[in-house]
Amino acid sequence: MTLTEKILARAAGKSSVQAGDNIWVNADVLMTHDVCGPGTIGVFKREFGKTAKVWNRERVVIIPDHYIFTADSKSNRNVDILRDFSREQNLPYFYDVIDDPNGQWKYDAAKGNLKRQYGSNYAGVCHAALPAKGHTRPGEVLFGTDSHTCMAGAFNEFATGIGNTDAGFVMGTGKLLIKVPETMRFRLEGKLQPGVMAKDVILHVIGEIGFDGATYRAMQFDGPGVASLSMDDRMTIANMAIEAGGKNGIFPFDSRTAEYVDARTRLNGTKASYEPVEADAQQTFVYELVVDLDKLEPTVACHPDPGQRKKAKDMGATKLDRAYVGSCTGGKTSDFVEFARVLRGKKVVIDTFGVPATPDIVRDLQSTRWGDKTIWQILEDAGVRMTENAGCAACLGGPVDTFGRINQAGLKCISATNRNFPGRMGDKESQVFLASPATVAASALTGRITDPRDV
Ligand code: SF4
Repeated sequence: MTLTEKILARAAGKSSVQAGDNIWVNADVLMTHDVCGPGTIGVFKREFGKTAKVWNRERVVIIPDHYIFTADSKSNRNVDILRDFSREQNLPYFYDVIDDPNGQWKYDAAKGNLKRQYGSNYAGVCHAALPAKGHTRPGEVLFGTDSHTCMAGAFNEFATGIGNTDAGFVMGTGKLLIKVPETMRFRLEGKLQPGVMAKDVILHVIGEIGFDGATYRAMQFDGPGVASLSMDDRMTIANMAIEAGGKNGIFPFDSRTAEYVDARTRLNGTKASYEPVEADAQQTFVYELVVDLDKLEPTVACHPDPGQRKKAKDMGATKLDRAYVGSCTGGKTSDFVEFARVLRGKKVVIDTFGVPATPDIVRDLQSTRWGDKTIWQILEDAGVRMTENAGCAACLGGPVDTFGRINQAGLKCISATNRNFPGRMGDKESQVFLASPATVAASALTGRITDPRDV
């Protein structure tokens, strides 16, 4: 069996499963957020009753992160619905925007969008927060009401996005009926070269198979090249499995996985025990591709979908209006470190926005010094508009006052985010080019799509 089949077999209480089997699996964690949480809660209450209790209060994790720093009252109200529900159910893992459990969330536009407006429990973008807060464990099954839930496959778990109806059902029962996906194997060999990042790996892969090339399939990334990838790298790659239509992305377990998971569960007091899975010697794949990391070059996914692959070095004729670094995919500490390494001592020539994925990342960037400056100061000095309000921000457009949102037709933006279908970051007539933080930085310096190895 493949990694995915091994986990699903265990979660179904079976000795083996194969692709195409329909099985009931037990969920280990259900995650929801401010966009889908209210709908999920509505389904749960409708189907299980107004006084029903969730199947396991330790396993429901609620993370507001999407439409947070906006004056849109309906969006603010969504956070309040999550708070009411978490209080009613006595949920220990609700990462509220404010500290008062009886309060109401209201964004204060008058304070501006750069200075922090959240309390001490706020955790930022759900997919970055889940592992950081100790909710991702090898061998487990994670369901989330968000398509990029697949990011947690970096930790050797089966993680996939589900809709509100399924999530309402999981909330009540802890189970879900799913079809075992076929597995595509991506065998990674070699090591990434300077200027090339994990984002280039996944953009290369999606370019190879197309934005629907893995529809309802598991994308298994294995091989000797995995060892050289950090957990942040693996998260970036697994995150974008859905951009090829994948059901999940998954990595093998190794000492790096253990080190990360053990530290985070210990720090946060979450469940510390887990049982990783190893693939069998005999595995059945529907597709196999060897990816030589040594040979990869800075890669861009052009408008209008993540499969439109080109090399950055061939795109110098594309003029840009804006650059953006942020999101679960591209807003991690390591992403900003690479962004800052390219920008240090230089000035951007187009509007450039930086949105860390979580408050912890804001703290990292504001406390790590390179010489006499923090990384945060280096980015601000380069002309980047850095916000402390960690969250999804303009990754998916959002309400019109969202930081970094593209509100003008025809703008071209290079972005470290994960999705570039028309209208994704705002105006439907804008164009988004997906790239690594290093390529975004190099392009922000020139105003054209630029290979970071050239700066
Ligand atoms: S940062 Fe973007 S991709 Fe990630 S959860 Fe938020 S909206 Fe989705």
